[in-house]
Amino acid sequence: QSALDRIQRLDGDLNSFISVTTEQALADADAADQARAAGDAAALAGLPLALKDIFCTQGVRTSCGSKMLDSFVAPYDATVVEKIRQAGGVSLGKTNMDEFAMGSSNENSFYGPVKNPWDLSAVPGGSSGGSAAAVAAGLVPAALGTDTGGSIRQPAAFCGITGLKPTYGRVSRYGMVAYASSLDQGGPMARTAADCALLLETIAGHDVRDSTSVARVVPDYSAELDTSLAGLKIGLPKEYFGDGLDPEVETAVREAIKVYESLGAKVCEVSLPHTHLAIPAYYVIAPAEASSNLSRYDGVRFGHRCEDPTDLEDLYKRTRAEGFGEEVKRRILIGTHTLSEGFFDAYYLKAQQVRRLIRQDFLDAFDEVDVLMGPTAPTPAFDLGAQKDPVSMYLQDIYTIAVNLAGIPGISVPAGFAGNRPVGLQVLAPHFAEAQLLGVAHQFQ
Ligand code: GLN
Repeated sequence: QSALDRIQRLDGDLNSFISVTTEQALADADAADQARAAGDAAALAGLPLALKDIFCTQGVRTSCGSKMLDSFVAPYDATVVEKIRQAGGVSLGKTNMDEFAMGSSNENSFYGPVKNPWDLSAVPGGSSGGSAAAVAAGLVPAALGTDTGGSIRQPAAFCGITGLKPTYGRVSRYGMVAYASSLDQGGPMARTAADCALLLETIAGHDVRDSTSVARVVPDYSAELDTSLAGLKIGLPKEYFGDGLDPEVETAVREAIKVYESLGAKVCEVSLPHTHLAIPAYYVIAPAEASSNLSRYDGVRFGHRCEDPTDLEDLYKRTRAEGFGEEVKRRILIGTHTLSEGFFDAYYLKAQQVRRLIRQDFLDAFDEVDVLMGPTAPTPAFDLGAQKDPVSMYLQDIYTIAVNLAGIPGISVPAGFAGNRPVGLQVLAPHFAEAQLLGVAHQFQ
């Protein structure tokens, strides 16, 4: 009830929630109280949480930040939602996001922008900006986000919280509305790494309903948080400290790295030579997959349908023209173009080859070091409305996007401030080394 009251009091300014599910939350909280009284409380019993509005929830609208799905109510729960419920977690509602997770500032939502709780004139980052702002403002202790090219880590950095993108395949994507299926991954956003560990333990694992989820034991992340960092080898990718990095962000990140040295870690420089190709490759691959995934919104099966269509083609055209926002349309156009006959080899196939090189860069670096560290984003949170052209917005993701192309895990850890705006330290590790990331983040906190 106190979390719901706080949402009521503060979210008018922040706009971090699209739907608040008060009745369901109170009923679930009662059930958790009863379980606790009966002595069989599960790991998250009674914990208030929020879900990015990309996770399907039975009986509750799942809008994906889009007019297209404004009236869509899923007939089932996403696997991660089911797991949270089974663990006694209490969802308070669905958080705001960039439409179909396309964006880095949360300004692309049909439901309006979210504001950064540290400074209401700043963006919270995106696309999981609602989840990040809700946690940062203390509306909920933890939330789920998704990360296709940085959408957990960058808003976590902008809002001064901890956000983990797990290894591709660690967490089931069943019931998570698809943006770019080979890149999408759900994960925890919370104030601390310890809270992220608890949430990841709950949501990770193989799922027969997602063939890309990996059948691999889920470690006890919480138990490994204090594993000693003495002798840890940290690599600083030189490409992550070059032109375009805000000096105050760089200072905060370098100060954080000194703390690790004082804990016994060894630091050296490494190179990820194909870094400059990550954004171009991503903006071919992600829109290609998106154009295919979003073809299902045709006015027939889900959500929005235009009024009085004259024929099938008119139904498709007007439904999609009315239902999708500008950025989503831009991505569909890019995606259908790069997949079209005559361009496929030059764009899509080439981007897949580049993707392979980017992945190899990380594997080579991890032959030398245990983890990589650098800034999560090149700048602190920018002002609402400040990034006007799409390419400058895409450049926000310069340090986060390659991680999704490689499928490795990454975490953003709060590491001080630039002025009044938080800075995130990004830590990257080999596939399935989430325990290491969480331990590294925890011991800084
Ligand atoms: N900002 C990137 C994009 O717009 C990444 C978004 C995400 O990770 N969902 O595609």
